[in-house]
Amino acid sequence: MKTVLQNVRIETDYLKNAGFTYGTKTKKVAITFEDGVITAVSDSEESFDPKSAIIDGKNALVLPQLREMHVHFDKSKLGIPWYPVEPADSLVQRFTKEFEYLESAPLSFEERMKNLIELELAHGVTHFRSHIDIHPKVGQRYLESAQKVLSAYTDKLDYELVAFPQHGLLLSDAYDEMKTALRNGATLVGGVDPVSLDQNLALSLNQTFELATQFNVPMDLHIHERGDNARAFFSKLLELTKEANWQNKVTISHAYGLRDLAGTEQDELFSALAENGITIISSIPLNFVIPPLTKLKAAGVKTFIGCDNIYDCWSPFGNGDVMDKLNRYAEIFDQLSQEELTESLELVTGQKALALDGWLKVGMAANFTLVNADSTAEFVARKIPVSASYFNGKQVK
Ligand SMILES: [Zn+2]
Repeated sequence: MKTVLQNVRIETDYLKNAGFTYGTKTKKVAITFEDGVITAVSDSEESFDPKSAIIDGKNALVLPQLREMHVHFDKSKLGIPWYPVEPADSLVQRFTKEFEYLESAPLSFEERMKNLIELELAHGVTHFRSHIDIHPKVGQRYLESAQKVLSAYTDKLDYELVAFPQHGLLLSDAYDEMKTALRNGATLVGGVDPVSLDQNLALSLNQTFELATQFNVPMDLHIHERGDNARAFFSKLLELTKEANWQNKVTISHAYGLRDLAGTEQDELFSALAENGITIISSIPLNFVIPPLTKLKAAGVKTFIGCDNIYDCWSPFGNGDVMDKLNRYAEIFDQLSQEELTESLELVTGQKALALDGWLKVGMAANFTLVNADSTAEFVARKIPVSASYFNGKQVK
């Protein structure tokens, strides 16, 4: 059946006076969709087929689908009564303890993961990229459990699953299990610190690219390497990306080391990242390791935001709201103007919120977000809650 979402506003341009942008121009539209696809974007005042279901959007602003680009479905403790983060002297000790905890957690994997998904859906997200731990001790169990939970959410969200060798691809000898995970439906190859954790940059990255090219999937690596380790990492990454022709298929999460480079070093590396379509994803940490995201963006590097830790064995924090992270980003990087705040939304949507002819197009999946805000800028700066989200034409929130 046809559905018409009437009386919603789309941003088309900025409002300017003597060089100052004081707001955003919006146009009132009606969005018609059928079988999950947008079939018309028209004037809101038009009369519509009386057989369609008509929804009154109540003058809400319509924005692109919100995406959670870095989360761990298998690590959440949501639903478990308060339990603080245990002390750990090293990364190895941290994930060793984490595994023990998760194996005997007082709430099932399914319940914890459902709590995480529901929390993010309530904040308006309908696309998830989740890393799932893969190593010989856990085998495919977490992946299988995650897929089982996701099978009940097919009408509410879409997702990407990253096979993630949390205990080190080489260190935990995870190569074969990674292969199995990619055969079993993981859609990206993950990785973590080939220098400081795996202790063999070339071998670790070679095996990662081997997996990616063998299964023809993109990659998303957790990289916390600093200083010279980061320099060596990015140089090897660029070399292998070019060699494998893996441009536009490589993402680096965290990328703390980008901060450690001097000005000209940054300029050179950032343009190489842009040229090779290497994406950077950040969870907007507050402890001075955040990469220079606005500088990366200015250099043409694609950047995204994800929540990452949401009450897990690594962090007691995180509220599962990507908009909260985006607000934090805007504040850290001094994104004060109407334009800067509007453009920042791309970090959680991957597409522009403002276009002269409107970003909503016929033929697009009917995925969008409604918010009772004057503009994207107000939505981002004032943390206005999402009032509704639609996924494939169905209202989720
Ligand atoms: Zn992570």
